[in-house]
Amino acid sequence: MNVRENFETITREIAETCKQAGRNADEVKLIAVTKYVTDARVEEALEAGITDFAENRPQNYVERKGKYSDKTWHLIGSLQTRKVRDVINEVDYFHALDRDSLAKEIEKRAEKEIKCFVQVNVSGEESKHGLTSEEAIDFIRSLEQYSKIKVVGLMTMAPFVEDEEILRNCFRKLRQLRDEVKGLDLPYAPCEFLSMGMSNDYKIAIEEGATHIRVGTALVGCELK
Ligand SMILES: *Cc1c(COP(=O)(O)O)cnc(C)c1O
Repeated sequence: MNVRENFETITREIAETCKQAGRNADEVKLIAVTKYVTDARVEEALEAGITDFAENRPQNYVERKGKYSDKTWHLIGSLQTRKVRDVINEVDYFHALDRDSLAKEIEKRAEKEIKCFVQVNVSGEESKHGLTSEEAIDFIRSLEQYSKIKVVGLMTMAPFVEDEEILRNCFRKLRQLRDEVKGLDLPYAPCEFLSMGMSNDYKIAIEEGATHIRVGTALVGCELK
């Protein structure tokens, strides 16, 4: 495992995929998911020039953001309402807004505007968090009441399948939903971004419009898993 080499490979793949898809490579932000690795790996990633990082547990998020505070940190993964106060003011981007009780608690605890991705469970798998595509629009409309929440985009996790068409369909649906929300012109929900694509499916996600890919295993490894 060599983070610098992985970073170079993935960066090249992002560039090639974007070129083929008629997109600019700088439209895609690579986020290193460090939940399964030690600080040594995080430091390798820093040395390689990676600028954006993600953790999924509030405690780990706060620790790492504290240690490497000059980088951009993304909180991914579901957030329990009672954990909001511990973490929310350290969040640069939150990728898992999926319910009103959470929005309400963020409104109560946040001392700044929080950039949020609304999580959508496009595939409808029961094991996954997120709103259904049908619920998402009404939910986003209802966020108008919360002054601290800015909806910068939508996020999804694709199902754990190999079938490319299923993955592509999932990403495409999220993009269509994003376009719909964008079209509403809500001042608190510019909804420009699409957080989708992980180690196994980021190429397809980019082809379908991803602006933020969350890559763990293929970039920094998974030594603690
Ligand atoms: C762990 C995780 C990732 C990264 O997964 P890999 O398959 O290791 O790239 C991305 N997004 C979320 C929400 C995760 O929890």
